[in-house]
Amino acid sequence: MAATLSDRTRFVLGDNNVWPLRLDASEGGGWLLVDAGADYRAGDPASWWDVLAEQARAAGVRPEDVRAVLVTHEHFDHAGLSARWGALGARVLAGPAALPSLALGFEAYERQRRPRMADLERHGAPADLLALWASRRPTAAWQWDACPEDALDAVEDGTTFCLDEGRTLRVVAAPGHTPGNLVALIEDTRELFSGDTVIPTTIPTPGLHFPGAVAGDPEAPRWPSLPPFLRSIAAIRRRGVTRVFPGHGYIIETPAVYLDRFEAHHARRGAKVRAALAEAGEATAYDVVRTIFPRLTEHRVFQAMTEVLGHLDLLAERGEVECRGLPVRWRLTSDR
Ligand SMILES: [Zn+2]
Repeated sequence: MAATLSDRTRFVLGDNNVWPLRLDASEGGGWLLVDAGADYRAGDPASWWDVLAEQARAAGVRPEDVRAVLVTHEHFDHAGLSARWGALGARVLAGPAALPSLALGFEAYERQRRPRMADLERHGAPADLLALWASRRPTAAWQWDACPEDALDAVEDGTTFCLDEGRTLRVVAAPGHTPGNLVALIEDTRELFSGDTVIPTTIPTPGLHFPGAVAGDPEAPRWPSLPPFLRSIAAIRRRGVTRVFPGHGYIIETPAVYLDRFEAHHARRGAKVRAALAEAGEATAYDVVRTIFPRLTEHRVFQAMTEVLGHLDLLAERGEVECRGLPVRWRLTSDR
């Protein structure tokens, strides 16, 4: 493992990365982790907590000396072990919008399940697909325990930490993949810890997020995910990132290639959504999905709807589409 890491150490759980950074003595020493790790309880050894603790000790990082865990975003595979770190005395740090989910664990998914299905129904998804999607759950081996609120701290955009060798780690709010998403930049080297914002193996996805439902209001509207995601990617590009330490997969040595890939993918998708609306005159998000991706399997249609809704959000923000009715039908406001 170490051979591919240049001078970096990481802990690997499945395909999830946890990145340890040494805090400077001026911060009280000890370690900061980027991401808490996924909590998978099956097999041998019985828990990924044990796997993680063993990897940490082998690298010279005593789990008791981890003082801060910076959670890039409110998904179970990044935040799953937050409660374990909190119980050991670490501060669990996350973007303000991520904290309600960390305080709930998997309950945060449960609270969004019904609003998500209702929204997909509003946008034309047929009943049989809704039933199929509603029946899906992560396997029981995946856990995400609620993190006690007294272990949680909000970390604001621009917060810095003094690392060893005089380096500075800066938290950068990067909403998009989730509402509370953040990335962290080593200012001196412009190396980025990206969570799921930039990953090497796939184009990271926007989502169907209902932060109001997490907070207890099931009627609260969906949070548009793709427009801020694209702005966050543009902001990362402006920082001149030299290397990316992602939440999944290998270290990215050519960040511009992956940022280009993300933007080109969404430019193409956006053009296809526009073309589908131009052709149809008026269409639901589901109609657009079926036009653009006529041969998708039923499970993949969910992801495609997420992406098409993201592009409709983007076009709506630009004033290029309008919608009406139920199911919601979209049309272009002008021919460009
Ligand atoms: Zn994620």
